[in-house]
Amino acid sequence: MCDGCLVLHRDGAVAFCSEELDGRRCAGYDHPHLGGYMSCRVAPRAVRCRRCEHAMQFRLMIAPGFVPEPVLEAVAVN
Ligand SMILES: [Zn+2]
Ligand SMILES: [Zn+2]
Repeated sequence: MCDGCLVLHRDGAVAFCSEELDGRRCAGYDHPHLGGYMSCRVAPRAVRCRRCEHAMQFRLMIAPGFVPEPVLEAVAVN
């Protein structure tokens, strides 16, 4: 059990543990964390994270591919 809070990148990978920011040792990223989880972007020292930027761009590329077709079909039937 670690007293800190795990900070995760947008793609789900562990960025670091809040204990490390405070100069203490993390029990291990695979251990349960008392502080729970936190998004990388929220962390005060993790501004402009390259890994998160990449994950965000990847999502933007995928997003336009989603088209709600069932709605169009319903309109055609009526
Ligand atoms: Zn990140
Ligand atoms: Zn930790």
